[in-house]
Amino acid sequence: MIKGLGHVSQRIDQITESATLAITGQANALKAAGHNVIGFGVGEPDFATPPAIVEAAIAAASERRNHGYTPAAGLPEFREAIAVKTMRDSGFDVTADQIVVTNGGKHAVYATCQILLDPGDEVLLPAPYWVSYPEAIRLAGGVPVLIPTSSVDDFLVTIDQLEAAVTDRTKMLIFVSPSNPTGAVYPPDLIAAIGNWAAERGIWVMTDEIYEHLVYGDAVHASMPVVAPAVRDRCVVLNGCSKSYAMTGWRVGWMVAPPPVAKAAVRLQSHMTSNVSNVAQRAGLAAVTGNLDAVAEMRVAFDRRRRTMHRMLNETAGVECIEPQGAFYAFPNVEGMLNRPLGNGATATSSLELAAIVLDAVKVAFVPGEAFGSPGSARFSFALSDDDLVEGLSRLAELASSA
Ligand code: PLP
Repeated sequence: MIKGLGHVSQRIDQITESATLAITGQANALKAAGHNVIGFGVGEPDFATPPAIVEAAIAAASERRNHGYTPAAGLPEFREAIAVKTMRDSGFDVTADQIVVTNGGKHAVYATCQILLDPGDEVLLPAPYWVSYPEAIRLAGGVPVLIPTSSVDDFLVTIDQLEAAVTDRTKMLIFVSPSNPTGAVYPPDLIAAIGNWAAERGIWVMTDEIYEHLVYGDAVHASMPVVAPAVRDRCVVLNGCSKSYAMTGWRVGWMVAPPPVAKAAVRLQSHMTSNVSNVAQRAGLAAVTGNLDAVAEMRVAFDRRRRTMHRMLNETAGVECIEPQGAFYAFPNVEGMLNRPLGNGATATSSLELAAIVLDAVKVAFVPGEAFGSPGSARFSFALSDDDLVEGLSRLAELASSA
């Protein structure tokens, strides 16, 4: 049978567009139409990339050596620098041949799933989860096995839960701390316990450390293969420049993997993307060899906004929120805003509907919990200006008060 022109593969048919990018797109379209939209949907720092990094890229653009193809694994000096940075920031002693530069951290997630998963392999995925994890698993033929966590347990998965979810098809655990979307930061001893459990069980771990520098209060970041060395040989660490250096648009991430996995990633990239843009890699090199002053400044601003957001969300009728410990997201329960008339007379029966009503009524964008496998919740980013944050949450609070 001749397939219609609209035909796409079953593989692609089963995945959905990134909900966070979609909500940002809707908010941007309303902004372009002249509306004063406050966006809590974005997953990126509202800061510009630090000038020294931009200058390195400007210089790189005019250098002949950056005009041609370079090794698919990444510029050798950048891989060396990432190894040094990994030791500096997390105490993980790795060599440059374990590092593969990818087109953003997201691409490292995709590549890891392609490399490690065979069709039918199960991947343990604590929920709420970051939107791209289940899709990357499915694109590799894997099966996401969701493990629900809740605010009552600070959104931390337990060993018992992991143990209960294991089958003989379990291949990998996807772990993230600090977490998008919940803002949870796992205590080092729990990270160690989970890593040791995975090692004992022979389960791979992909651990996402992209928010490593964004922890607040007493929370500390710990790298799983450092606190659980037993898991080193089955552990892929994902990281990148996006969140720490306000470089989301530059598309520079990397994986740190056992050598056979790193080699496989290079093979995959050599057919898929070749090298990440040399100019962006030179910017990344300046980022990881520079100091951490810019991220320290961002952290101060995020921390202030985090506390304001936590307070204002809890002052909003029908909203309950635990204090985020890391990243730049609050993940409140909004069930108290459902199934009752809001200030404008409208009633939402789900957090998905609520997001649409709030955007339409008061021009405030947030990502509904459905996107993260957690209906009844919502993700609010606090990576926006203090004034916009207060304005947006005030609008939400007004709408939340009953009609
Ligand atoms: N991992 C997590 C948990 C994220 O939140 C993101 C971005 O939102 C990424 C990875 C990927 O970041 P990027 O591809 O922009 O480097």
